[in-house]
Amino acid sequence: MNNIFDLVVIGAGSGGLAAAKRAASHGAKVALIEGSKIGGTCVIRGCVPKKLMVYAAIANNNIKNSNGYGISLSDISFDSEILLKNVKNEVSRLSEIHFNSLQKLNIKVFTGWGHFVDQNHIDIVCPSTGKSVCKIRGEKILIAVGGKPNTLRITGSELLWSSNEVFELNNFPKSILIVGGGYIACEFACIFRNLGIDTTQVIRSNNLLNGFDNDLSSSLKEIMVSSGIDLLFNEELSSVIKKEDSLEVSFKSGLKKVFKNVLLATGRSPNLDNLKLESIGLEMNGPYLKVNKHNQTNKKNIFAIGDIIDRPNLTPVAIEQGRVFADNYYGDLSRLVNYKFVPKAVFTIPELASVGLNEDEAIKKYSKDNIRIFKCKFVPMSNTFKNKKNKSMLKLIVRKNDDKILGCHMFGDASSEIIQMASIALNIGVTKKDFDITMALHPTVSEEFVTMY
Ligand code: NDP
Repeated sequence: MNNIFDLVVIGAGSGGLAAAKRAASHGAKVALIEGSKIGGTCVIRGCVPKKLMVYAAIANNNIKNSNGYGISLSDISFDSEILLKNVKNEVSRLSEIHFNSLQKLNIKVFTGWGHFVDQNHIDIVCPSTGKSVCKIRGEKILIAVGGKPNTLRITGSELLWSSNEVFELNNFPKSILIVGGGYIACEFACIFRNLGIDTTQVIRSNNLLNGFDNDLSSSLKEIMVSSGIDLLFNEELSSVIKKEDSLEVSFKSGLKKVFKNVLLATGRSPNLDNLKLESIGLEMNGPYLKVNKHNQTNKKNIFAIGDIIDRPNLTPVAIEQGRVFADNYYGDLSRLVNYKFVPKAVFTIPELASVGLNEDEAIKKYSKDNIRIFKCKFVPMSNTFKNKKNKSMLKLIVRKNDDKILGCHMFGDASSEIIQMASIALNIGVTKKDFDITMALHPTVSEEFVTMY
């Protein structure tokens, strides 16, 4: 009887934790299985430690850039050991807070990896010995195991770091090559460069952040180049070999370069390999588990959320999917996840953020003649006395026939905070006229959004 639960959640990341806690708060008897630290990608090896590193890089950058404000420090140094130790401590603290809140809600935590035995039973395997610890039964099972970094099939791929390894370092390297042009690659390129590390980024296309508005990518590119990041476009790795304490990288063009380390950030894939799903015959949707709008798989009692389904792979999305699932099945509510205007941010330096359609998507959907574009690019007042007068960029995409705002994009400090608020407005169908009649708040950067003409 002890090992029979209303709900068994596999994976204690953001989505799994949210679902387990919400279900338990509705009175369900819940088990949570996790083979690693409680917290998952976001808390342990993603958003949280990354953002702490971003703050360090911004602080370093601001101090070095503030002579014009009368601030000059002759001896600025950065000790990556201190930063990395503090980040690890903070991650452990947060993991412990999550663990304690699970205890308070009487959620039974099993340490180990979950393997499906059948549709209702999970075998829990000890992470160190690989031996079965116990078997538990769930009336419902929620798979929330998240994603894992992709690897490259090239000679020397075992020498490359993924983002997982970066969070385990004790020191940063002196030089680094970052592979990829997406979220993780751009964020880490900015972190490393702004902390004084010699940074090169190799991108297989001619664009950063494919899928984001082109004005955001080009604004980012300008600033990354001016900060000293060496961007190699239209280039790919062909092999990596170890040379003493460095790595010699050969590129497809024939170019060779030496770096202390290489970080691979070429996307992530669902982490489904070790669940023994074969035994239960779940339907797939490409590499993802196939689910309906209630996150239910083709087996009625098995559900999936987060980075293992084909939805925006973002922490708040996984959390909401988990909560909606728990509210519907244990709280007697009838909710659906709202995917209409999911805001996105990339924590580069400065950051950028978006909600709604980008210009290309809007043209494709409504045609060029049926949309209006408003944009401005300027040096924000906060950069007036800085050595580097980086520009911010704000952009609105409006549908002509009803004046509805289809997309809102920003590059510059605090854009994630501003776009989070704008996403509320877009969700309730805001028009350009609504923006225009809203009083500006001066002097701010975001006032431009309500004064664009
Ligand atoms: P992304 O999908 O953002 O970017 C992957 C990058 O790698 C792209 O530039 C892609 O190029 C390139 N790439 C893919 N395959 C290869 C290859 N074989 N050789 C060379 N380049 C390749 O993935 P990330 O790994 O950066 O991040 C994974 C996910 O994690 C994100 O999609 C996002 O969902 C999440 N995340 C969110 C963050 C946030 O919200 N701030 C921060 C970090 C991660 P191309 O564009 O040509 O396909």
